[in-house]
Amino acid sequence: MVDSATAQAPGFHRFTVGAFEVIALHDGVITRDRPAGFVPNASDEEVGEAFATAGMPRDKLTITFTALAIKTPGGVVLIDTGLGDGGPPGTGTLTANLAAAGIQPGDVKTVVISHFHGDHIGGLQLKDGTPRFVNADLLVPEKEWAFWMDDAKMEAAGEAAKGNFGLCRKIFGPVADKVRKFAWDEEFLPGFTAVRANGHTPGMSAIRIASDDGVMMFVADITNNPLIFARHPDWQAMFDMDPAETITTRKRILDQAAAEKMRVSFFHAPFPATGFIVKTGTGYEFLPALWTAS
Ligand SMILES: [Zn+2]
Repeated sequence: MVDSATAQAPGFHRFTVGAFEVIALHDGVITRDRPAGFVPNASDEEVGEAFATAGMPRDKLTITFTALAIKTPGGVVLIDTGLGDGGPPGTGTLTANLAAAGIQPGDVKTVVISHFHGDHIGGLQLKDGTPRFVNADLLVPEKEWAFWMDDAKMEAAGEAAKGNFGLCRKIFGPVADKVRKFAWDEEFLPGFTAVRANGHTPGMSAIRIASDDGVMMFVADITNNPLIFARHPDWQAMFDMDPAETITTRKRILDQAAAEKMRVSFFHAPFPATGFIVKTGTGYEFLPALWTAS
């Protein structure tokens, strides 16, 4: 039962890119004490100061999750799935928000995955293993598949990473024959082109979305919260698997977004997580797009 005295509006927000309607979908929030060493190459004091400057509690870490659904002439495309029904309390709201926007899971024609972390793939299945998007084709970055589905890499991985290898087998094992893999620079669906964005994970892909004269890019996890990591582009996050490559990728994509004045959508920016990038003296600033009715 939703308590109308305290409930928020449903977490979706529509905008257009050419003939496509793009819908940002909120999958919830987690907040915890910020772990020591969250930014391994800056002091906890500096990082606390950056959080305070961004209007956030100095010692907490709040992570938000925002996927995209895109209505195209070829059907509804979902980019990333959120955590699903097995995540921490306060997450897994994607399907409720999708329904609030008028779309049922069975209406999704294609699911595109940016990378294989649980907050991006967990929603492909219900907790009991039932597939959620039963009518959808599944498109994934080929380099991401090659890494996480390689048993030798799993054997060689540390304990922390082993859990994610296991998750990939649980999620993709039952549907392995339905998965189609795409390469960087490939237009894998009309208007959807994969962009190299590795570093955070070995095969992460951003997605360039173009229709008529409209263009945008879903930039996945090139930053965690851009209020921290676009402002401090040389800072690593503890989630980044290859810190040096993460930073190279981040700067390349943010430079491009700034130069082209192109709309971007982040997965971990404040909802609805979409806007523009400008360069500053020391880094980049994320400018939220105007919230308009059309
Ligand atoms: Zn993520």
